[in-house]
Amino acid sequence: MHIDLDEQAYALAILSGPPVYDVGEWTKQIAALAQEVEAHDLLETGGTAKVARHARERAKATTDPRETSRLRLLSEWLDAASGAVTDWQAQSNRALLCREEELIEFFQLSRAALADYGIETPDKTHFEVTDQFPKPFDRENWSAFCPDPEDEKRFGIRAGIYLRRDRIRPFQTACLVAHELIHVVPGLKDGDLLAMGLEEGLADLLGSLLVARRLLPANVVDNVFTYSRLGPPRALPASYLQHARQAFVVYSQYGTSGLVALVNGGRRAIHAAERALVHGEVPVLDVPLASPERRELGSIARLLQSGLNHLVVSPLEYRVAREATAGLSVQDVSRKVDVEEEDVSTALSALSDRTMMIVLNDETIEFSNFDVYGESYPRAASTTLRVSLGEG
Ligand SMILES: [Zn+2]
Repeated sequence: MHIDLDEQAYALAILSGPPVYDVGEWTKQIAALAQEVEAHDLLETGGTAKVARHARERAKATTDPRETSRLRLLSEWLDAASGAVTDWQAQSNRALLCREEELIEFFQLSRAALADYGIETPDKTHFEVTDQFPKPFDRENWSAFCPDPEDEKRFGIRAGIYLRRDRIRPFQTACLVAHELIHVVPGLKDGDLLAMGLEEGLADLLGSLLVARRLLPANVVDNVFTYSRLGPPRALPASYLQHARQAFVVYSQYGTSGLVALVNGGRRAIHAAERALVHGEVPVLDVPLASPERRELGSIARLLQSGLNHLVVSPLEYRVAREATAGLSVQDVSRKVDVEEEDVSTALSALSDRTMMIVLNDETIEFSNFDVYGESYPRAASTTLRVSLGEG
């Protein structure tokens, strides 16, 4: 089986939740280093170790403290990631859900999981992996496309789910399949209305999270969500996150039956519920108020409500923050992280200005909350201090 380096690097990232903000940039860097040392199979522990060693050597050779931090962080994380990957290989026989046949199988499993919730998708639902979306949507820059019977009537396109082959990513595409499947049902009734808005939130909450968690480990599903929805503040992911939070209001009030009632109710019912939500009301649905499944409610709440996307720091700041304990001086931290005092001082000031998690008194750290955020929780990406690999 051929898996390209880029895909392998992405899989490593999702399986172990690195403390980075932009998983695309991170995987590019891993893939580039792997190519330099000809480690063509990162998923073999040997390949990961080789790349980690190479990153450490490069870190020693460079004099730029930002670059050193970036490379050290990368080597540390690669060492930690290999365990997660070994576990995954042992339990899953290496399926990364990148191949067409794996995705077709995942599509059918998702349909069955959805039927368990009480949402029936037609047996004949079309599913296709394609190089190009059907006209007139062939120029759209989407990863997936879900035309409904109305599009079939208007444009002669077969209704169903289409995935762009060049956009397939380990685990992420599988979660996307579960998301798209939710769109199929409201589209059967009210195809004349635009899907966006609360429907995207329902597709994320019920599809990409709840259905996907039935079929994949929760940490994998949550990391995919974190990277696609809690990333840098870009318009589309930010709007999806807000709509997932709207859907969560329905979920916390009515449990999954509320979500199911809306999806089965069609696009008009979803629009009516959204109208209530944007006016600060809980939609009135014809389902009993449920005590939602407590455990799942708690962990979904953690992801949607506690997942932070503003504590973003540079690799150097990340390294400094992890050692920035109250009572230490700039000189102490400099010794601990092996970076010039001047650079440590700049990083501490930037952390103080941007995150409000630290108070400096001259050259001494008076207060610091970084022990709350800096600690890395195994395989959970959303609640930790995360690193921006760009300059932003
Ligand atoms: Zn969608």
